Amino acid sequence: MKRTKIIDLLNRKDFGAEVCVKGWVRTRRGSKSVNFIALNDGSTIKNVQVVADVEKFDAEMLKLITTGACLSVEGTLVESQGAGQSVEIQATKIEVLGTCGADYPMQKKGQSFEYMRQHAHMRLRTNTFGAVFRIRHNMAIAIHKYFHDHGFFYFNTPIITASDCEGAGQMFQVTTKNLYDLKKDKDGKIDYSDDFFGKTTSLTVSGQLEGELGATALGAIYTFGPTFRAENSNTPRHLAEFWMIEPEVAFNDITDNMDLAEDFIKYCVRWALDNCKDDLEFLNKMIDKTLLERLNFVVDHDFVRLTYTDGIKILEDAVKQGHKFEFPVYWGVDLASEHERYLVEQHFKKPVILTDYPKEIKAFYMKMNDDGKTVRAMDVLFPQIGEIIGGSEREESYDKLMARINELSIPMKDMWWYLDTRKFGTCPHSGFGLGFERLILFVTGMQNIRDVIPFPRTPKSADF
Ligand code: ATP
Ligand code: MN
Repeated sequence: MKRTKIIDLLNRKDFGAEVCVKGWVRTRRGSKSVNFIALNDGSTIKNVQVVADVEKFDAEMLKLITTGACLSVEGTLVESQGAGQSVEIQATKIEVLGTCGADYPMQKKGQSFEYMRQHAHMRLRTNTFGAVFRIRHNMAIAIHKYFHDHGFFYFNTPIITASDCEGAGQMFQVTTKNLYDLKKDKDGKIDYSDDFFGKTTSLTVSGQLEGELGATALGAIYTFGPTFRAENSNTPRHLAEFWMIEPEVAFNDITDNMDLAEDFIKYCVRWALDNCKDDLEFLNKMIDKTLLERLNFVVDHDFVRLTYTDGIKILEDAVKQGHKFEFPVYWGVDLASEHERYLVEQHFKKPVILTDYPKEIKAFYMKMNDDGKTVRAMDVLFPQIGEIIGGSEREESYDKLMARINELSIPMKDMWWYLDTRKFGTCPHSGFGLGFERLILFVTGMQNIRDVIPFPRTPKSADF
């Protein structure tokens, strides 16, 4: 008999029909005469209840129906008597496809996230992680749909890069050299001429530079791919391997860029509210009771826009009034997450787009303001998260860009191709990077970024 997914089964009304479902046992309870099995197949957070009359089944087989076991069930679709579900299955045939012993690591309810991270291969089977990863999928779909509908082209930038000046963070080196027998030149430097690419290469920290090539040809592009940062930041918001969405648009200035970021992120949140109702309700109940309220709030309100300089004034006033920050506040400081969250959560109580940062704390390619001190950067700051998006208008003038590169002594020898964008038909353009997992953190209400990617990579941790 053909299998019905539980998500479809729960919407059916053709009582009396013969159906087949397959899935994993969440719980089994019952009496001497009847067993109730809650079965889940991952298609929805909801379980289907299977009712098994004990006398109709082999007692030894029934004993194998433990939490985590995999079953194939055939039976009759009936209207449910119990609360909380409309249909259930009166079983006629049960086959145990896979037994599950008492050493199943997801046996108990209410295990800590820390514990579940150590069993990340099995945590996927829990309600919480099922909800998180169904939402993660939905966000990926929303992202592609938003950009496709707005005339952006999905543009794939390389994962392996030879440019060591992407500027966003420490890089992981890629090599096929024998690390036990490294050929060195007379200065003791490693000779890469016999390496796979004939030079040093790394995993990308951002697709932006190549994205700019795409935008200045196709008009509007976005990337959506893995990014790698070898920064030793053990925080609930940093991964060594994460996914980033980077739109880049020709002829957009910083205001257009802010409008795009705000519209895009609201679209994604609205998509979740419209398409992930059951999972969000579960997370709202189990993880964060203010989640739905927060999501609705973001969709319904304009983001606050203000300059870095004004933001610093607000933070300095807060310090004067006795607010204690762990890190100091002064003009020129790279804001810490606690500063960003103060502005968002305590001061404005709204998402904030902070603009015009000091050039010293931002990347070389950002467009300089007339004051010569600040650049046209924009970071979108969110409640619970802090920075969720970082972007800017790009410096389109070849001379100004070169001046900045020289000022910072950035090694540009492998970057001639990037500079060519400014040499041949340069144009104003802007873009930003959204950390996919930071978006998922926001949308799910989860607290730790390690719990919104199936298999997290962090310092000293690359299992599974
Ligand atoms: P942060 O200050 O939080 O470390 P960043 O300034 O290094 O971030 P950008 O280089 O601007 O970040 O990258 C763009 C976006 O990518 C960020 O706004 C954030 O959403 C995301 N991001 C950056 N680093 C990480 C990381 N290590 N793990 C997960 N997401 C990240
Ligand atoms: Mn940033």
